[in-house]
Amino acid sequence: THFGFETVAEELKASRVRTVFSSVAANYDTMNDLMSLGIHRLWKDHFVRSLNPGIRPASTASSPQATPGQTILDIAGGTGDIALRLLDHATTINHDPRTNVIISDINPEMLAEGRKRFATSPYYSTSTNRRVSFLEANAEDLSAIVSNSIDLYTVAFGIRNFTHKQVALQEAFRVLKPGGVFACLEFTPRLSNPLMNGIYKRWSFGAIPLIGQVVAADRESYQYLVESIERFPSQSEFAGMIEEAGFMVPGGERGVEGELESGWEDLSLGIAAIHKGVKP
Ligand code: SAM
Repeated sequence: THFGFETVAEELKASRVRTVFSSVAANYDTMNDLMSLGIHRLWKDHFVRSLNPGIRPASTASSPQATPGQTILDIAGGTGDIALRLLDHATTINHDPRTNVIISDINPEMLAEGRKRFATSPYYSTSTNRRVSFLEANAEDLSAIVSNSIDLYTVAFGIRNFTHKQVALQEAFRVLKPGGVFACLEFTPRLSNPLMNGIYKRWSFGAIPLIGQVVAADRESYQYLVESIERFPSQSEFAGMIEEAGFMVPGGERGVEGELESGWEDLSLGIAAIHKGVKP
């Protein structure tokens, strides 16, 4: 653009995101509980259950030892909240001891919290097995990951922070194997019920920065988090972006008006939503 203003603005955004997450890393899990009244745990549990990670017992019955398990990439994986659930589900529900997760994040402080959590895990400690690994990377440039190598790509509450979301979606498409699944859990910019939306916005713009100030002495970072939700595309716009990257969006058939019918699942009145795409 003229005079490179857009580039300057983008760099400012990326550095703002870095500062915010470096600042919130140590309190991140506690703050999530406080701000969402613990509901983020239910959303994450539901998200992971809906993906059913791990090789199904029936498909391994003939030669269980030969099956390598799935390779899952948890982008913006931060403190490892999603990765832990993915591994627990694969292990306890599908009896799959091999499926592994690469936790990737742009922020070294957030990854350090994840490393701490897994270092003490009796099941997934990186020194006893290779089920967890860590990768510091920008989701918009996953050159460390080979094309067509990932079975499942997850991103929870991360993509709204990316500067170039479409580029990140294209990278997701590149690294996934054909038949691989892209899955995103993210806040939505508004609830469909205007009354509930008003109540919710009062809570998020009023209480969340205040909790940030009182508990973490950091009002600004939490103000940013609330504002970044407001700027995220609507469910149908985001489903369109996933399609544009080349994915098939399950249930995402276009209706008579050319609008996507329902290529996503709303959670808790549409405060958050799950989007999925399959690489053909
Ligand atoms: N997925 C975790 C969860 O659900 O608890 C962490 C979500 S946290 C709100 C957002 C994460 O996105 C932060 O750890 C941040 O560092 C990461 N992030 C922001 N921009 C990124 C980018 N461009 N590439 C990769 N990670 C990014």
